[in-house]
This record gives sequence, structure tokens and C-alpha cells, in this order.
Amino acid sequence: MRCPFCGNTDTQVKDSRPAEDHVAIRRRRFCPSCGGRFTTYERVQLRDLVVVKKNGKREDFDRDKLERSIRMAMQKRPVDPERVDQMISGIVRRLESMGESDVASDGIGEIVMDTLARIDTVAYVRFASVYKNFQAADDFEDFVQQLRPPTAPDEAK
Ligand SMILES: [Zn+2]
Repeated sequence: MRCPFCGNTDTQVKDSRPAEDHVAIRRRRFCPSCGGRFTTYERVQLRDLVVVKKNGKREDFDRDKLERSIRMAMQKRPVDPERVDQMISGIVRRLESMGESDVASDGIGEIVMDTLARIDTVAYVRFASVYKNFQAADDFEDFVQQLRPPTAPDEAK
């Protein structure tokens, strides 16, 4: 693995351990030429995914990009970071298991929302507001309204 700091290709693995509940292996690496330290993750990749956007453009699926948008939605939420990693791996696994290399960007958004909805409502609304491109406060209101399970008047406390 090439050192990201100096480009040396002869780096050493200092430590390997399972991560994300054994879905990944985390390796601490050391570069003897510049002393740099970095971490790599090894994960199973079932297939190479291509994202097809609404305008028809295609691009290679980028796990890091997905992770960034999810972490942004999860910011300051009381959810264990390890849980977030597991969630992202679960989403990628679902995408890879759909049987097609091409996945619609819409489909990814739906799966992410579906997953977030079960984990953290605030993160879900945040992600949806970006994904669905809410323009006005009314958009939020309509959306949040759908989240509230209908309760009988006598159940309200
Ligand atoms: Zn180096």
C-alpha cells in the first residue's frame, strides 16, 4: 500500500483487527521512509457498482461519498460511530445484493432514508431535506407530519 504522504510503496502493517462487527479489517500502517501513519480498511466487495444519476450520467459508486453524506446527517446525534459504520456497510451490502451493477441514485437515496428512519429520526429528516431538496418550511412540515404515527386522542399524554 502506497504511503499517502510520501508515495513510498513499501509500507508496513503495524496492527490488524476486525472492525464493524467483523465486516471489515482495520489495519494501522507505518511508512518507514517518512514515519507517516495511516489506516486502511479491508472490506468484501461483491460487485463494482455504477451509479446512474437522474440526468443519465454514470459514475463509479463511491463509498466515501455515501459515508460523508450520512455522517453529515448524523452529526451530533447520540449514535455510536461504530453503529454508523455498520449501517453504511449494510447499505452497501444491500446495493451489491440487488443483482445489478447499475444502481439509480434515487434507489440509493431511498435505501439510505429507509435505514436512517429506523435509526435516528432527526438524521432521517436532515438527510431527506437535502435529498428531497426541501425549499420551504412547508416542505418540512408536510414531511414531519408523515413521520408521526397516528395516535388515538386518549393515548396522547
Ligand atoms: Zn511515507
